[in-house]
Amino acid sequence: MLAARLYGAKDLRIEEMPEPDPGPGEVKIRVAHAGICGTDVHEYFETPRATHEPNPLTGATLPQTLGHEFAGTVVACGEGVDRATPGDRVCVRPIRTCGVCPRCTAGLSHLCAALAAIGVTSPGGGLAEYVVVPTGSVHRLPDGLSLEQGALVEPMAVALNAVERAGVQAGGSALVTGAGAVGMGALFALRANGVDDVIVVEPSPSRRAAAERHGARVLDPGAVDVAAEVLRHTGGRGVDAAVECAGRPEVLDACIRSAAAQGRVVMVALYSGAVTVDASVVRLAELSLLGAEAYPDGVFERVIEHMAAGRFPTDGWLDHIPLADAVAGLHDVRDARRVKVLVDLPPTPTEPISV
Ligand SMILES: [Zn+2]
Ligand SMILES: [Zn+2]
Repeated sequence: MLAARLYGAKDLRIEEMPEPDPGPGEVKIRVAHAGICGTDVHEYFETPRATHEPNPLTGATLPQTLGHEFAGTVVACGEGVDRATPGDRVCVRPIRTCGVCPRCTAGLSHLCAALAAIGVTSPGGGLAEYVVVPTGSVHRLPDGLSLEQGALVEPMAVALNAVERAGVQAGGSALVTGAGAVGMGALFALRANGVDDVIVVEPSPSRRAAAERHGARVLDPGAVDVAAEVLRHTGGRGVDAAVECAGRPEVLDACIRSAAAQGRVVMVALYSGAVTVDASVVRLAELSLLGAEAYPDGVFERVIEHMAAGRFPTDGWLDHIPLADAVAGLHDVRDARRVKVLVDLPPTPTEPISV
């Protein structure tokens, strides 16, 4: 089978490798679509990152097949699998946890001290024709949900968790900084929760257009003072919450200055180093600064429900590319030329599904 494997910084190779077989408790999936994420961009362009050290939980090391946002069809199941059967259309919750650390035993396994993720720090990944995953990570897609939507469940779960952390009440207001896939997901999740007054800040015109098409008021941070504009729009009050999806220090600063008194600023972006915040602004407005990481139990299920109800629309922000163009896709995501790139792994028509 073909897979996109990371050998080191800026060294991703599309190459043949043996098809994996499912062991006990594992499910083999024929991948249909796999998203390229900001995490993949960081792993590809920056070194050393998570993929470059053997992972303590899984032992994974380079070369690592990338792709942690994917959906496909189950083609085989190992012994003892009762959660999936061949022919099921599924997406995968890629995180792997130790189950024994204080965070896992406290019910916060998504914050596991040894957290690993399929396609980042665990063997196998979705940028391949086949992948084998533990049965517990598989979520069946309901009829009516496409495999394309299935590949978006993971990034939308990141966004929904961030919005749930923000805790904005219906009828409230919010700022979303960055209109990549998680920013778009935050917009959809806010609207799904009855928050229609959403301002999206994004320098890329095409990404701004995508957010605007889906009901956001948009701001170009290169053209306006974001905090001043947000305060003007809210009659001097500020927004109830800001969801920071850009990962840039000046953007986090704009979030803090745009928040209403006792507002919440949720950081879900990846930061490439330490970031300074103006603590006086936080203190004087009694702001809450919150992190949001991955997705606690139950978030995947809620995303799938929202998708089935049409609350995470897919029009106007997806681009599809073949596996051979994966490196170009990484550049496009880094350079904000596209909102979301899905790599397609179309099944060859003669391929039988083993039952
Ligand atoms: Zn991701
Ligand atoms: Zn743990």
